[in-house]
Amino acid sequence: MLSIVSTPIGNLEDMTLRAIRTLKEVDLIASEDTRHTGRLLKHFEITTPQISFHAHSGQAKLDKIIAALHDNQHVALVSDAGTPGISDPGYLLIRRAIEEGIKVEPIPGPSALLAALVTSGLPMDKFVYLGFLPTKKGRKTLLEGLKDESRTIILYESPHRLQKTLKNLMEYGFQDHQLVIARELTKLHETIYRGLVSELAQTLENQKLKGEMVLVLHKNTKSS
Ligand code: SAM
Repeated sequence: MLSIVSTPIGNLEDMTLRAIRTLKEVDLIASEDTRHTGRLLKHFEITTPQISFHAHSGQAKLDKIIAALHDNQHVALVSDAGTPGISDPGYLLIRRAIEEGIKVEPIPGPSALLAALVTSGLPMDKFVYLGFLPTKKGRKTLLEGLKDESRTIILYESPHRLQKTLKNLMEYGFQDHQLVIARELTKLHETIYRGLVSELAQTLENQKLKGEMVLVLHKNTKSS
């Protein structure tokens, strides 16, 4: 069986009891970064062996994990933070396991996108999650195609691209959208910025925001 185990996005208290038990019980943990996950395992006194499985793992690594699963080993998949597969490695392993008739189970838990959405106060009944925007090619076309989207839009963003993204949002017709920037969620310096894109672009113009962040956008229809 393959268990897809969500882990904290900053605050270790968000580790679920089931995640701890599963990581203790499995035969093998497929980790995005074994050193990173090693620290989590140490904290929870988990001694299960790890195998690395990341974005650049080739076919041979995938075959090795699938062979272990066929050998009736129970494998847990974890990423550095949050839910594996969500802008993180995992999809190829999960798909292959399903194709090969291996049982797949989720161990749900933290994910930055849902934590940001529910804190945003923006409509959360319908939303589109787009992960990271393309860094160069395709960025303009994608953003222009989204400016009339009526559902709430969720994006992951790295701090060093925030200014560029705010500038692009202003350029491509989002200036009157409501924007929430959810920064360092669950961590000591958790900060939530709320305003129109035009307001936040101005307020944050000369600031270098550090840390991890999620952008939540909604077209400014006051009636919704
Ligand atoms: N799989 C993860 C999940 O379920 O949320 C996402 C992994 S993705 C590689 C990392 C991105 O998630 C960061 O660049 C940031 O956009 C977002 N993120 C992760 N942790 C966060 C946090 N504590 N606060 C805000 N955003 C976070």
